[in-house]
Amino acid sequence: MNNIKRPRGTMDILPEKVRIWQHVEKVTAAVSEKYGFSEIRFPTFENLDLFQRGVGDTTDVVQKEMYTLETKGSGESRYALRPEGTACIVRSIIENGLCHDAMPQKLRYNINCFRYEKPQAGRYREFFQYGVEMFGADSPLADASVLSLANEVIGALGIKGVTLHINSIGCPDCRPAYHSALKEYFTAHKDELCDTCRERLEKNPLRILDCKSPICSAIADGAPKTVDHLCEDCASHMDTLKQALNGLGVVYTVDPRIVRGLDYYTKTVFEFICPITGAAQSTICGGGRYDGLVKELGGPALSGIGFAMGINRLIDAMEKSGVVIEDDNKPLLYIASMGAAASMRAFSVAARFRAAGKYAESDLVGRSLKAQMKYADKIGAQYTLILGDNELETGCAQLKNMATGEQTAVEIDTFLI
Ligand code: ATP
Ligand code: MG
Repeated sequence: MNNIKRPRGTMDILPEKVRIWQHVEKVTAAVSEKYGFSEIRFPTFENLDLFQRGVGDTTDVVQKEMYTLETKGSGESRYALRPEGTACIVRSIIENGLCHDAMPQKLRYNINCFRYEKPQAGRYREFFQYGVEMFGADSPLADASVLSLANEVIGALGIKGVTLHINSIGCPDCRPAYHSALKEYFTAHKDELCDTCRERLEKNPLRILDCKSPICSAIADGAPKTVDHLCEDCASHMDTLKQALNGLGVVYTVDPRIVRGLDYYTKTVFEFICPITGAAQSTICGGGRYDGLVKELGGPALSGIGFAMGINRLIDAMEKSGVVIEDDNKPLLYIASMGAAASMRAFSVAARFRAAGKYAESDLVGRSLKAQMKYADKIGAQYTLILGDNELETGCAQLKNMATGEQTAVEIDTFLI
């Protein structure tokens, strides 16, 4: 019979790799806390409607990439595995009344997400995101603060060669005119566009700017720019954001091609791009302002801004930047033993150390003394103790400091380090 394999596009994170994941979780939490973002957790699956309305019916995520479920007893309702976190958090703050607390409301999350995509480097079907959302802060300084947080996280993780691209995609006031200009431009190139973009032309021409096909991308280079079509409010929002970023020393470029894959973004949108991770999967962080989303999902008119980072891509970028996270869980003591009585005594010494809150190991697999010492070295034990008939008789043994080679006589049943 064939062995069962993991589903395509999923990953096993083995202990050696988990270390770097835990490090990323620690750093993202610590930096987020400095900016006042509290953690929120929410279900892995939600009502399908939430994503249709909260991510957008015309987006690739909803149209092509969503895992939908029909479960027993669900009646008419259908569910989907979460493809992202923002819509879920908005649902949660509305449902739990957090919209009525003092603003801004600042939340962070660390979740698995599911998208039916073609698996390749940096693109999985189950992947992981760290993200933040800030609600109820309309000021461009909120945008600057969220961008500064993302920038700080990327720096603290030791990722090199990252560039920040920002853009403004306007608001419901200025977007219709921009959409018409875009539509006019792309209609002139209709025959050259890919099939998907030809469809997008009717429903959502903005999406064409995001197409990864080289031909569409080349055409999009000459398209009208959002920044040239902003209303006064959106233009001044962008100006103040730029000033704030300059003041913080956060380096950015204004990139008219950044439009983001999800609907409901307004004004500021941004991506942090790390080319060393490979051309197609180089966006390690994406985000923006979504002032219409809370209301769209049935809540009050509350603004929002946030980002999500793909943890897989962050880790890939860290490894390519030469970041190494050492295993710091090394045993303080390894107790080697010869014979059954000594082995039992070694076992009880290890138990005594653990009771004192210290990590100790003794032989559990019946290795020879020589093999035990080799193993102690391999697992990085700081001290070793050897127990044989003599030691059991006298009640004393030699404690060896593995780094210095120094030996000290200790009483087997009472000593601690
Ligand atoms: P892309 O353009 O690469 O498909 P996206 O615009 O679909 O990204 P978002 O929905 O903004 O991505 O998600 C935020 C981040 O999550 C991305 O910048 C990326 O780092 C990560 N991400 C998105 N999809 C995947 C995936 N299938 N596998 C791994 N990471 C992903
Ligand atoms: Mg995508």
